[in-house]
Amino acid sequence: MAKPQTEFWHHQSTEDVVSRLEADIDRGLGLLEIDRRLDRHGPNSLTQRVGETPLQILFRQFQQPLVYILLAAVALTLVLREWADAAVIFAVVIVNATIGFMQEAKALKAIDALSKIMNNEATVVRGGQPSQVAAAELVPGDLVLLQSGDRVPADLRLVRVKDLQIDESALTGESVPVEKHTDILAASTVLADRTNMVFSTTLVTYGTAAGLVVATGDRTEIGQINELIASADVLETPLVRRINELSHSLLKVILVLASLVAIAIMIRGESAVEVLLAAVALSVGAIPEGLPAVVTATLALGVSRLAQRHAIVRKLPAVETLGSTTVICSDKTGTLTQNQMTVCSIYTGGQQYGVTGTGYDPDGHMTSTLRDGDEATKVPVVVGEPLSEILLGGLLCNDARVTQDDDDNWRVEGDPTEAALLVSAAKGGFVRDHEQTLRPRLDVVPFESQHQYMATLHRSGGETTVYMKGSVEQLLPRCVSLFGGGDLDVDETTVMVQTMAKQGLRVLALATKPMPSHQETLSHDDVQDGLQLLGLQGMIDPPRPEAITAVKACQQAGIKVKMITGDHVGTATAIASQLGLEGQRDEHTQSLVGFTGLELEQMTDRQLIESAENAAVFARVSPSQKLRLVEALQSRDHVVAMTGDGVNDAPALRQANIGVAMGITGTEVTKEAADMILTDDNFASIEAAVEEGRGIYDNLIKFIAWTLPTNLGEAGIILVAAFLGLQLPITPLQILWINMATAVLLGATLAFEPKEPNLMSRPPRAQNDPILSRTMIWRTLWVGGILVVATYMVFAFKKSLGVDVDSARTAAVNVIVLGQVFYLLSCRSLRHSMFRVGVFSNRWLWLGVVGMIALQLLFTYSPLMNRLFESAPTTWRPWALAIGSGLLLYMLVELDKWRFGQSRVD
Ligand code: ADP
Ligand code: MG
Repeated sequence: MAKPQTEFWHHQSTEDVVSRLEADIDRGLGLLEIDRRLDRHGPNSLTQRVGETPLQILFRQFQQPLVYILLAAVALTLVLREWADAAVIFAVVIVNATIGFMQEAKALKAIDALSKIMNNEATVVRGGQPSQVAAAELVPGDLVLLQSGDRVPADLRLVRVKDLQIDESALTGESVPVEKHTDILAASTVLADRTNMVFSTTLVTYGTAAGLVVATGDRTEIGQINELIASADVLETPLVRRINELSHSLLKVILVLASLVAIAIMIRGESAVEVLLAAVALSVGAIPEGLPAVVTATLALGVSRLAQRHAIVRKLPAVETLGSTTVICSDKTGTLTQNQMTVCSIYTGGQQYGVTGTGYDPDGHMTSTLRDGDEATKVPVVVGEPLSEILLGGLLCNDARVTQDDDDNWRVEGDPTEAALLVSAAKGGFVRDHEQTLRPRLDVVPFESQHQYMATLHRSGGETTVYMKGSVEQLLPRCVSLFGGGDLDVDETTVMVQTMAKQGLRVLALATKPMPSHQETLSHDDVQDGLQLLGLQGMIDPPRPEAITAVKACQQAGIKVKMITGDHVGTATAIASQLGLEGQRDEHTQSLVGFTGLELEQMTDRQLIESAENAAVFARVSPSQKLRLVEALQSRDHVVAMTGDGVNDAPALRQANIGVAMGITGTEVTKEAADMILTDDNFASIEAAVEEGRGIYDNLIKFIAWTLPTNLGEAGIILVAAFLGLQLPITPLQILWINMATAVLLGATLAFEPKEPNLMSRPPRAQNDPILSRTMIWRTLWVGGILVVATYMVFAFKKSLGVDVDSARTAAVNVIVLGQVFYLLSCRSLRHSMFRVGVFSNRWLWLGVVGMIALQLLFTYSPLMNRLFESAPTTWRPWALAIGSGLLLYMLVELDKWRFGQSRVD
């Protein structure tokens, strides 16, 4: 028989595939075999293909309007045979491009590295044991387990399938999920129809499956297509875009001013050379050369600051958007709560029991409450039916494991909700492995949050039985009697659920049903009705203490916190009030109002918007309702951060301004859709990220506020000279020197400013606020004005002493630089004085100041610099004047801050 071609895995039976791959569909590969195969096939990763080559990135640094002006200036100075000028201006362009290039490369790399940390884990069976490994370590023949929310880690031939659906849009462009099975297909079947295979990078949207790895790395379909799906790393943030717009308008202003200057000079009948030189001086002076580099650098620095606080940013704009967040919509379980579930109350229809013990330690027992008049005492009970049966149901309908580690701590593998049921069963005397051997599992309907239940089929002796657990809303209507056939009191059960929920307990209902003894498989249809209720198990899941603090911090910062959960509305509101959430309250009871998904469904859009704005708790919410809630909030101009962990949360995360995925419990699908990933799944980290976001934005604004007056001042100096026919107090070359040196040594250090003390007691910044407030625009204007005046005064003073023009110009340059040093100290906070934020809290800034002063001394006194920049030594007197005017400037700005603070109403 002719051997089928390797790529025709879909045309082979499972047995053929197994033998060709020398695989095992029950125990997986042997551990020793894996290294050998890894050596032969290499790691399961795609060869990196970068979207833009480094050369393209470098080239792009020159494609900016402001650089065009500089290049024009180079051309002009060349024509005028001003070699030195041409060389220095050109050097500035090169230095600028290099810095920009390095910053951009660094930022991209940081984001890339961080988003990779989180990616790509796979569940694989090796040596008979399921375990989590990095997807890169997979080898052909590996037995991989898939469940909804997973990203398929390699090309697999399926060997077992349960209701599997795959979103293959990454590969085929087809957005409707494809159903999969294990049957053999014709050899000619095209890729999109190979329904017994799943392909690397596609997403599991539903169901579970097991498959054998048939191709890894570049040999997968996606690797061959050579279409590495680019992680859409946008470096352009809204702020960067607005700065670019600013540059464009600046360009126009500069052109107009330059022509005005040219006209003014020509009217006076001076030479063309003079005209052109002045125009060049004006242009280079008015351009904030360091701006783009500093902005990217600050944002990139922000990415690593956020990572330190457990928030991994996948898209750079998120750093900026975080700062303007007005609403945080958070999951309850595990994010606001500890996800440390302990069953403490059990109800079996007619009888209620307590459960002692804490955490996952199986030390504890069942109690029952004896009442004697007013007195209630708790006594241990002997576990018999029906209590034993509900414990058994919880143990069998379960995929979790509780183990003890080396330090005797109890650890959970799997869902904490299920682990709690194992522990309560253990307290009743049931040993998991023992029970599972007695009643082997035949099939399972796995838990999917949209169904809110899970069911398993077991055989024991000749009897086949279903055990089912899930939300009360799903289970109770399907029950016809109590376990054993007794009457089911729906009202009493509902009251019991509400009592438990009010205490903040997470309530699971459990049920059972005898099945025909020959039945081997289980489907959703089998558990539609005819069930017998075993009862309820209520578990505590205390709020995280740090979440309580974080909620308070958010509220102080004018950010609303909303809980969106799949849990029961009673449980949700109880936990919400323990957390201190604020929102719509009931008129009579004053307790928090919680809306259920069903209620949201029945609302008109207007009602929905109203409720989304006012209420704080949304329970039993489906993923599509989550999406509607985000849209409702956004229609009121809210900037929404929204968490999600399930597969179906992806659309809501994409719609949210900041989609937040859970690093530990989250699925690959949600991580893919998210802007930010929390490495610790903790609500407090979202709050921390918002705080960092605000700090980073603050520092960017400080830099802009600092740089603009200088550019304005320099342009002003040239304009005045041109119109009044004065000698230029600073040359174009000197202007470039000032702009470059101060941007790097002074301005860039503002990125290291620590967060201001009251950062989280300000209201959120509106997203369409202008970059600079009115107050700041005025301040920019008069600070620029003062620089112009001071420069002319010192220049005129020196000239009046009869010194040469070079040394007078040097004095003028020192006035501007020292003015910038003092103004830098002011810009450390646009609201407070430097003494409030801590004089030495930014070491980099002081280092920069010292370095800048040292450079100015060189500029003034070193012969080399003198030759290069036409500078000349000065006496001490101009220095004193420079310091004096800088100090005056500093005090005036502080006065302005103080006045501004006085006139604010807060
Ligand atoms: P959340 O994470 O917001 O608490 P989930 O979507 O995880 O919500 O759960 C919704 C409901 O589904 C829970 O209130 C519970 O009734 C039920 N449920 C949760 N986990 C399981 C499970 N492992 N098996 C069966 N039912 C479950
Ligand atoms: Mg959950």
